[in-house]
Amino acid sequence: MVRTLVAVFVVALCAFPAYAVDEKKLVDLTYSFSAETLHWPTAKPFHLDKVNEGRTPAGFWYSSYNYSGSEHVGTHLDAPFHFAEGKWTTEQIPLAQTIGPAAVIDIRRKTGKDPDYRLAIEDIRAWENAYGRLAAGAIVLIHSGWGKYWGDRKRYFGTDEPGNVTDLHFPGLSPQAAEFLVKQRRVKAVGIDTPSIDHGPSIDFAAHQILGAANVPIFENVARLELVPRKGATVFAIPMKIQGGSGAPLRIFGLLP
Ligand SMILES: [Zn+2]
Repeated sequence: MVRTLVAVFVVALCAFPAYAVDEKKLVDLTYSFSAETLHWPTAKPFHLDKVNEGRTPAGFWYSSYNYSGSEHVGTHLDAPFHFAEGKWTTEQIPLAQTIGPAAVIDIRRKTGKDPDYRLAIEDIRAWENAYGRLAAGAIVLIHSGWGKYWGDRKRYFGTDEPGNVTDLHFPGLSPQAAEFLVKQRRVKAVGIDTPSIDHGPSIDFAAHQILGAANVPIFENVARLELVPRKGATVFAIPMKIQGGSGAPLRIFGLLP
């Protein structure tokens, strides 16, 4: 028995390097949450409230805070339920739904000329011509280049007027391409480096509705997509497990090939 235990222990020790994570292969695609974090013009910003911070009478350090804010602040997940009644709320999304092979579709050439550009089926076809057919279960990440405006509310949203949702300008996903991704390619999730999967001028949020109806989660305000290869990385998107939520703050990162 003891010999078996020792053997198990030795095997576990030898196996450890196989589980060690190579830090250089991880790319954090998440913006930090703070009072400055960009949020939808009508959403409650992130807020951190100090409860305790400092030396206690006993001499040790202690810090603790309360936080608040919209589910849809900064880098976040939209649950299918956000725009589709009866579909998954945040805690119902299976873990495997938001972990998978990344397909980064670069539309920077188009968005440079048109800030309201929407990724079209032809952009998916161009990616497939270069990298092969999108695998069922892929996680599509739309690289519009908007990350370079992060922190500059006027450039990132098209307006910096609080509450103004009628002068928004940033790229998104076309309804036709959204249909194509869920029906023809059966992707697991779709992310974008802008405030919303529907472009700024949208008033019907068609891409949200189509993806939601197919139980396909959405990631918004995804950071640093220029560091992820167009094919070959694995994306891990781990939302806070908010019961009944329409979304959640998200920690998303890529594991490079
Ligand atoms: Zn959202």
